[in-house]
Amino acid sequence: MTCKYFIPGPTWVRPAILQELTHPMIGHRSAEFRDLFLRITADLRPLFGTAQDVFVATCSGTAMMEAALLNTAKQRVLVTTCGAFSERWLAIAESLGLEVDRLDAGWGNTVDPDELADHLGSRRAHYDAVTITHNETSTGVTNDVQALARAVRDESPDTLVLVDAVSSLGGIPVHFDEWGLDVCLASVQKGLALPPGITVVALSQQALARAQKVPYRGTYFDFLSFKKHADDGGVPATPSIPHFFALAAQLEHIIRGETIEARYRRHTAMRDLTIERTSRFAKLAVDREHASPTVSALEPVRSPEEIRNAMKKRGYTLGGGYGQWKAKTFRIGHMGDISLEDLRAMLDVLNEVART
Ligand code: PLP
Repeated sequence: MTCKYFIPGPTWVRPAILQELTHPMIGHRSAEFRDLFLRITADLRPLFGTAQDVFVATCSGTAMMEAALLNTAKQRVLVTTCGAFSERWLAIAESLGLEVDRLDAGWGNTVDPDELADHLGSRRAHYDAVTITHNETSTGVTNDVQALARAVRDESPDTLVLVDAVSSLGGIPVHFDEWGLDVCLASVQKGLALPPGITVVALSQQALARAQKVPYRGTYFDFLSFKKHADDGGVPATPSIPHFFALAAQLEHIIRGETIEARYRRHTAMRDLTIERTSRFAKLAVDREHASPTVSALEPVRSPEEIRNAMKKRGYTLGGGYGQWKAKTFRIGHMGDISLEDLRAMLDVLNEVART
């Protein structure tokens, strides 16, 4: 099981999980599907750290970001930004015709909880929701969601907290209930190491209560419809059933095989190894203190593209820089089911390539 694929999503998928996708088809209104669905939601709860509602939708993460805003925001939102994916919230909110304010930390930085508290405390506007990106994949930093959510709770208790955990869930701890989050979503092709195609989401009771007050929530992504069907052990429309088999198997592995805590430790160890073994030829593009356990953006002495091309010739795929950091960085995805051994082997080759 050697992995030579290190992009920050979609990430490498174990053959056993790929095999799950070939399971014979079942109907999504069958007893077998209901059993599958209930096993999945039971295992997603500890992963999200919640006793509240969890759903699975057939879409990528971006669609669920849109759904989160559609279901919870009627007028005005505050978007916190620190890179390309946090800026995606901004684009979505604007496209939905919402009034949007932005609190920008700048690329590569984390959003400062005190600045967020000050912004909300100054009562410039009332926000239906604040968006937070847990792990900014374009730059490789992890935001302190607990502190940011606390700032919202303290300063503006009826403002909902919407969190993108696309590149954190399954690799970095998420404590939905303890942190007081309202919507937390993740597509599955990153820390959960599944093929792309479905998205998991946790919702608070406040988020569902808010949805009840939003008259036009659309049809496909109506949270209340997801809730109604989930209470009966199902989903509103025909889902990607192969993904459900794969997700059930992967959650079984994460919760009762590897265990969540060991998975987080492995991710931290992968980050530390990556930073240590690249330090001779590249600078970590962000502050070490906030460096992500799932993805590292590196500024090499040599051209990032030359390094990636040379690695490609050796059979390894690394991630390119993203957005405004495209030319100066490359990224190593160290997330999902990648082993420390495979990462170490790749870093050995990278050292040869990058230093010649
Ligand atoms: N948010 C983050 C942090 C991401 O890394 C990505 C994808 O890379 C997205 C959102 C978009 O997710 P998707 O590609 O599943 O729509």
